[in-house]
Amino acid sequence: MNKLIITVRPNEWMMRGPNPHIPYTPDEIAEDAARCRDAGAAIMHVHARLPDGGKTNSPELYTEIAHKVRAKSDILVHTTLGNIHNAGSDDKRMAHVAEARPDMASLDIGSNNTDTYLPGEKRFKTTDRAYVNTIESCLHFARTMKKLEVKPLVACWSVPFLRAVDAFLDMGEFVEPAMVNLVLCEGGIIGGHRGTTDGLAAFFHALPPPGKVEWTVCVKKGNIFPVVGMALERGGHLSPGLGDYHYPELGYPTNAEIVRTIVAMAKAVGREVATPDEARKILNMSPRPL
Ligand code: ZN
Repeated sequence: MNKLIITVRPNEWMMRGPNPHIPYTPDEIAEDAARCRDAGAAIMHVHARLPDGGKTNSPELYTEIAHKVRAKSDILVHTTLGNIHNAGSDDKRMAHVAEARPDMASLDIGSNNTDTYLPGEKRFKTTDRAYVNTIESCLHFARTMKKLEVKPLVACWSVPFLRAVDAFLDMGEFVEPAMVNLVLCEGGIIGGHRGTTDGLAAFFHALPPPGKVEWTVCVKKGNIFPVVGMALERGGHLSPGLGDYHYPELGYPTNAEIVRTIVAMAKAVGREVATPDEARKILNMSPRPL
């Protein structure tokens, strides 16, 4: 079977709360990245955070993170797209990518509502979380990343996002294979499929053919382990981490401990784990920017 690419998602916008192992500062992120690389992760998807965990899109901070992570390991650096809010120009949303020159960056190829529903209270926590990514913006992001030789991680929150991937592939906007992240949603987030095997399987009929894409899966605000077996069996890749969920079921582990558990599950079903260099080859990526 094909090798498994593990993308660790160590922090996203999650606060530590009951799990103290979520890295905030560039030094904490670099140390966590090195431990996750040793455990078997090939890529780290990172968000810059303020020392108190607050949100920031600071290009300087992303640059510091990229330098510090690369000084400690060869794990591929994958930053978010500017998704704190949609204010600002497309170039502003890409500023940290242009400056920090990560190996990869997210490209959410569509728009959706990301509000959280609270069933116990029969109300929404927010009612205005429209995450807007127009086709014009997405084309701009894809073309800018191609110029920068940054591989897009194309985030797909539901089936129509995959139709946009089809169109962009047809237009030659992505270097093949495109790397697609199937974003499943728990914790009341209504903008994506549920974090279940049914939620994951609902994407399969719409996936572009093998060779055109590789796919990975994450579960926002939820435990990824219910879909790990299906992803492994279907040749997909995995994107676990504390950035999505605190994992009380595992006793509030570290990111590296989660990666090690995934590696053991992969090996048990005959899938070896890709190194960062192997991931780069599988994804047909440019050499690391200097
Ligand atoms: Zn992210």
